[in-house]
Amino acid sequence: MNASVHIVGGGLAGSEAAWQLAEAGVQVRLSEMRGGGEMTAAHQSDGLAELVCSNSFRSDDAESNAVGLLHAEMRSLGSLIMAAADAHKVPAGSALAVDRDGFSAAVTARLAAHPNIEIVRERVDALPATGLTIVATGPLTAAALAGSIGAATGADALAFFDAIAPIVHRDSIDMEVCWMASRWDKGDTKDYINCPMTKEQYLAFHQGLLDGDKTEYKEWEANTPYFEGCMPIEVAAARGVDTLRFGPMKPVGLDDPKTGRWPYAVVQLRQDNALGTLWNMVGFQTKLKHGEQVRLFRTIPGLENAEFARLGGLHRNTFINSPLLLDGTLRLKAAPHIRFAGQITGCEGYVESAAIGLLAGRFAAAELKSEAMTPPPTTTALGALLGHITGGADAETYQPMNVNFGLFPPIEGARTKKADRKKLYTNRARADLEAWLA
Ligand SMILES: Cc1cc2nc3c(=O)[nH]c(=O)nc-3n(C[C@H](O)[C@H](O)[C@H](O)COP(=O)(O)OP(=O)(O)OC[C@H]3O[C@@H](n4cnc5c(N)ncnc54)[C@H](O)[C@@H]3O)c2cc1C
Repeated sequence: MNASVHIVGGGLAGSEAAWQLAEAGVQVRLSEMRGGGEMTAAHQSDGLAELVCSNSFRSDDAESNAVGLLHAEMRSLGSLIMAAADAHKVPAGSALAVDRDGFSAAVTARLAAHPNIEIVRERVDALPATGLTIVATGPLTAAALAGSIGAATGADALAFFDAIAPIVHRDSIDMEVCWMASRWDKGDTKDYINCPMTKEQYLAFHQGLLDGDKTEYKEWEANTPYFEGCMPIEVAAARGVDTLRFGPMKPVGLDDPKTGRWPYAVVQLRQDNALGTLWNMVGFQTKLKHGEQVRLFRTIPGLENAEFARLGGLHRNTFINSPLLLDGTLRLKAAPHIRFAGQITGCEGYVESAAIGLLAGRFAAAELKSEAMTPPPTTTALGALLGHITGGADAETYQPMNVNFGLFPPIEGARTKKADRKKLYTNRARADLEAWLA
């Protein structure tokens, strides 16, 4: 068969995409710069699908956890990454953790042995002008290629850092305490959820930001100049006790309907996905440790029982504004011979990166064979993640995202306990994936 696809990057996404294509009978050239004299700041080896940090694929519970469901869906689509993870799992309770060396060696060996795959240890410096291509170069994409991607997408659409503000599930916000409004009631819509704070609450919160345990910057993160542009909230707080009240926690123009007055300070949340299930804490990007974030942010009035779909963070992370740039099958709208996959699309995590690689591979194979392939339904974990990346997320505030039930269309009228509700989601996903595969 002559048809071929060029995959750039042999990480989690590129390896999975290569496998899916090769299994579909397509010839693959897989370009990976490690092993050809190059390295990233986080990788340690030349192995494909190297896990750069933790050895965990997180929960393996497909009944009540969104990432566990994603594992199950990927297994049913013949995922190489999941097969290698299962073969090299180590004890970790209900989580799926792996022996990282055995895992990476297994992926490398299976790809190297596949007759349809040629692994080339080379750095690619520019987006290919022609030929079906999948770019899966990850959060640490080499500089020259990042420049080429920036030129093709527009510099504003390519980020070199994530500046992640926490995201809260809408149904965990206490709307008896918070209210919907835009500042000065501008516009026809009341776009923000506002959490009011008294002076005492604000001062205690401000102190909590200063005292809270923070994650250290890695040396190569701290030296990146772009960083000043997305200041962590605790750094703003350290500039003065009122800095936040004149910044992201500004109360002016926000009449609390209960008092008819502006509160002392306000935390604002803005809708983060088209479904309206996820809300973003505006300006709350932070390096506070995750446990500290949950504790401190639950002291905010109205967020006492907040469930977080994502916690805040700041990392070196190259990613494109996918909701703006990509079509529903991960093709760059401006150059449809190029697909993106993995963390560079703005999904977050090993499993999510591999999942998007799996879909990119399948979409490319279908395109080469002129077969129709509809994306998986948004009620499945694969479809919910894909839908979020390729249009469900708000392009203006787009930041990396793990798979979670907030990305799934809500089940209307389901008045059930949280644990039962998760089962409703996973049951629906299983049925819909089966129907899609049939
Ligand atoms: C420091 C760090 C820690 C992380 N920790 C975790 C964690 O603990 N758990 C988790 O779930 N996720 C973690 N992530 C997030 C993410 O899931 C991983 O980075 C994941 O590996 C992304 O998969 P990927 O395939 O998109 O990219 P990668 O796995 O990084 O693969 C990209 C590949 O492309 C290659 N490459 C880059 N540029 C070029 C080029 N120009 N030409 C050829 N090859 C190129 C790289 O060498 C690399 O092998 C972490 C990310 C970072 C940066």
